[in-house]
Amino acid sequence: MLSLRFDNRFVRELPGDPQEGSQRRQVHGALYSRVRPTPVAEPRVVAYSREMADLLGISEAEIRSPAFAQVFGGNALIEGMEPFAANYGGHQFGVWAGQLGDGRAITLGEVERAGRRWELQLKGAGPTPYSRSADGRAVLRSSIREFLCSEAMHHLGVPTTRALCLVTTGELVVRDMFYDGNPRPEPGAILCRVAPSFIRFGNFELPASRGDVALLETLIDFTIRRDFPELAGGGTPQQVRAEWFAQVCERTARTVADWMRVGFVHGVMNTDNMSILGLTIDYGPYGWIDDFDLEWTPNTTDAHGRRYRFGHQPRIAYWNLAQLAAALAPAFTEVESLHAGLERYMSTFLEADRANTAAKLGLLEWREEDAHLVQELHALLQAAEVDMTLFFRNLADIDLAAPALAPLEDAFYDPERRRASQDALLGWLRRYAERVQGEGLAPEARRARMQAANPRYVLRNYLAQQAIDRAEQGDFGAIDELLDVLRHPYDEQPGRERFAQRRPDWARHAPGCSMLSCSS
Ligand code: AMP
Ligand code: MG
Repeated sequence: MLSLRFDNRFVRELPGDPQEGSQRRQVHGALYSRVRPTPVAEPRVVAYSREMADLLGISEAEIRSPAFAQVFGGNALIEGMEPFAANYGGHQFGVWAGQLGDGRAITLGEVERAGRRWELQLKGAGPTPYSRSADGRAVLRSSIREFLCSEAMHHLGVPTTRALCLVTTGELVVRDMFYDGNPRPEPGAILCRVAPSFIRFGNFELPASRGDVALLETLIDFTIRRDFPELAGGGTPQQVRAEWFAQVCERTARTVADWMRVGFVHGVMNTDNMSILGLTIDYGPYGWIDDFDLEWTPNTTDAHGRRYRFGHQPRIAYWNLAQLAAALAPAFTEVESLHAGLERYMSTFLEADRANTAAKLGLLEWREEDAHLVQELHALLQAAEVDMTLFFRNLADIDLAAPALAPLEDAFYDPERRRASQDALLGWLRRYAERVQGEGLAPEARRARMQAANPRYVLRNYLAQQAIDRAEQGDFGAIDELLDVLRHPYDEQPGRERFAQRRPDWARHAPGCSMLSCSS
């Protein structure tokens, strides 16, 4: 069963903790601890991604074999697996939090296939030295959310970690979902997530915070060697490090620009949740924008300060990169290269965001004066309570010769607010139509450009919650059904219109559909 070829460079090339097992501890001078998953009562595969399985060369028959559930439920290892938990720190909500580490994630190994490297990691597989006071487990609802969203992001073309499979454990996990002193048992699950690398900003911050420059440099050189091999030979070691940091900045910028394009709000952009590859990572209390609102945060823990609100994400990414730069500084002889990297973030983000916005609006190219048009639009969408996804998708249907609100009617949540903004919206549509006509792009080309930038289907919060509700009743079909819709987010899918509808009224304040807690 399962002929995976492992090449575990992280544990082979980097210093590890001499102590094994899950006893909680501060780990110094090491970048990981070896620890095995804790077996569960009754592992059962309830969902998987066939695209990810294909990339790993895993067949459907293998996935259906009992042995597969044993391995991905954490009950058995196969030859070549060398499980470990990574040691990292992080800034949480702007404050240095010290050592965090993989408290409930255990990497099984690094698979090589077709010239690509894939780290397989179980999330919810039991305690590690980094679990602090928690249990190392995950509940089904949050595992479904990560499974679906990471695959959906991939199909949207947004850099992300992936998901191979979702396994229920047959065990209960106790969580206080609303943080209101009413913990209750919930079904547990384990997600196998996959990425070329799970290294985070926090992996560098921790040795730097302890003044362990040698360990910091070891990790930097390893990351460049393994995860950025294209940089090899690009000048002196210092020049290579400089370009590496700039690349991290560039990738982060493009990913965040994509979040803004599709209406994704991460919700917990702590530096331990920032991938060195610029992947979207650690899907927790994330959310999707229904009614356009730059102030919205899905995370109840963030409701007060709104640090991680939709419109603030580009600035937070920059702040996080600045923390990374500060951590890397002892390994750089010239601070200027770190400043240059941060500038690369700014220029890349601006460029990507403008290109995305132009594409969303069906403009051939961005002009300085478009900034005003976009600002006006954002204010109007917010004031009139307009669904972001529906608005941009249906904007392609506006008759440029006679702009009217008719193609956009489905996008309004509140008739009162629609009425109050109607004249202003029409005025905006007329100016927009003029601007578009000025470019002379053929209507079909314009529509194609817009449809490639504006998804029809996103993982609306209430859709994920409906799949969770059914799964908790033992019906996992809704997960497959939803995943199948999300495979082709930019296509019209006749018969599946209900998955494209705006959030229904009942879901406006319903648990899991509007705000989410970190409890997972
Ligand atoms: P997060 O907010 O999910 O990024 O988690 C922050 C830190 O808490 C990380 O070090 C996690 O590994 C740890 N953590 C979160 N949930 C658990 C859990 N149920 N058991 C152990 N550690 C956890
Ligand atoms: Mg995390």
